[in-house]
Amino acid sequence: MPRLILHIDFNSFFASVEAQANPFLRGKAFAVAGKGKGRIDREAGAIQGKRTSISELSHSRSVVTTASREAKKLGVKTAITTHEAQRIIPNLPIIPGDPRKYAEVTHRFLKILREHCDAVEQFSVDEAFADITTVAGDKFGAIMFAQILRSKILDTIGEACTASIGIGPNKVVAKLASELVKPNGITFVDPSEVESFVAARSLRDICGIGPRLGKRLTSLGVTTILHLRQTPMDRLIAEFGPHTAEFLWNVSRGIGDDAVIDSATDDPKSVGHSYTFPHGLETDQEVHDNLLALADMVTQRLRNQNLFATHVNVFARYEDGGGSGTNAQLPEATNDGLTLFEHGFRSLLPIIDIDRGIRRLGINATQFANKIPSLIPEHNERHDRCLTALDLIAKRFGTGAWHRASTLNTVFLERVSGWHYDHE
Ligand SMILES: [Mg+2]
Repeated sequence: MPRLILHIDFNSFFASVEAQANPFLRGKAFAVAGKGKGRIDREAGAIQGKRTSISELSHSRSVVTTASREAKKLGVKTAITTHEAQRIIPNLPIIPGDPRKYAEVTHRFLKILREHCDAVEQFSVDEAFADITTVAGDKFGAIMFAQILRSKILDTIGEACTASIGIGPNKVVAKLASELVKPNGITFVDPSEVESFVAARSLRDICGIGPRLGKRLTSLGVTTILHLRQTPMDRLIAEFGPHTAEFLWNVSRGIGDDAVIDSATDDPKSVGHSYTFPHGLETDQEVHDNLLALADMVTQRLRNQNLFATHVNVFARYEDGGGSGTNAQLPEATNDGLTLFEHGFRSLLPIIDIDRGIRRLGINATQFANKIPSLIPEHNERHDRCLTALDLIAKRFGTGAWHRASTLNTVFLERVSGWHYDHE
C-alpha cells in the first residue's frame, strides 16, 4: 500500500509573517532584508537609550531574504541587494528580518501538524513533511485533510500567511506537488500518475538538483526529466558515482523515500529564555527591565502550552566570564509574567555583583504543575482576562506586538512586530 505523504510549504514566508504582523504591508510590494551589521548597532543604541529609526536600520542590512508576492511580480528576487531592489522599485519598503518572529510561526504550524498527523518532519523554517496515511485514508480523505489544514492555519496563524500543499506517495513527489500551485494550492498526485507528473516537471524543480548538478547534466545533453529517465544507469554511474546516479535514476521516476522521521521532542521540563547583551548591564534597573522582558516571553510560551510553573530559575553571566544563579519556589503555580519576574528578580538581586557587568541574563520556569481551578471566583480574574487578550494580540500580530512600558529601553524592543515600522 503506498503511503500518503503531505508536504507543506509557506508562500513567501518571511514576507507573509511580516504582513500578518503589520496590516499596512498587506497587498503591497516590500522586501524582508537579512541581518546586517545594523542589529548590533541598534542593540547598542537601545541600551544606551538612543533610538535608531527603522529606516536607518534597514539600509545597513544588505540582502533581500524574501520579497512579497507583489514585489516578486515586479522583479525583486531573493538574494539581490536591497540597493538593487530599490532600483527596481524606488522607495520599496525594506523590513528588517526578525528570525524570532518567524520561528514562532514555524512552531505554530508544526504544532497544528503534530496534533493531526501520524508523523511530522520539519524540513526547513517554512516547510514540513507529514505522514497522513492513517488519518486521511485515501485520496478524498487526503484532499479534505489538506483543506482543513489550510483553514486551521488561517485561524491560528492568520490570513496573510498562505501555504501550498502537495500530497503524493513519497517525499519527492509531495515536494514537487506543493511547488505546482502558489499561493494556497493543494495538489494531489495519485501513485498511478506519478511517472507522468514527474516527467512534466523541469529538472531544476527537483529538490537535490541544484545549479551545479543541473549544469553537469546539461553538459551531458540531459535537459529534461524524460532525458534523464532514458539515460542508462552505467552512464550515470560513470559520470556521477553510484550514490548520485541512484538518486537521479530514482527521482526521474518519482521513486523516493516515504519515511517521515518525527522530529518532535518530549514534553518540556522547563521553558526559558536567556539573552547575551552587546554590552554589560551596569545598573539594577537594566537588570530589572531586561529580566521582565524575558519573563514575559517565557510566560507567553507557558500560556500557549497551558503550563503552570512552580519554580523559577534565574542566572547572570558576568563580563569576566563568571556567573551567579539561583532557584526559587513560587507561592503558587503560575504562568503570569509579572509573578515569575518578581520572584526571579527578588532572588537574583541579592546574589549578583552588578559591578562586574552582566553580559548574559536568563530566566527559566520549571517544575510544571496542574493548576486546580478555584471554587471561589479568582481575585485576579480581570488580570487573567487582560492576559488572554494580550495573548490573542500576540497570536494575531506576532510575539512582541505588545510590550510593557518598563521594557521599552531593552534590546527586545528591536525585535518588535507590527506597528513600529516606519510607513513613510
Ligand atoms: Mg516557502
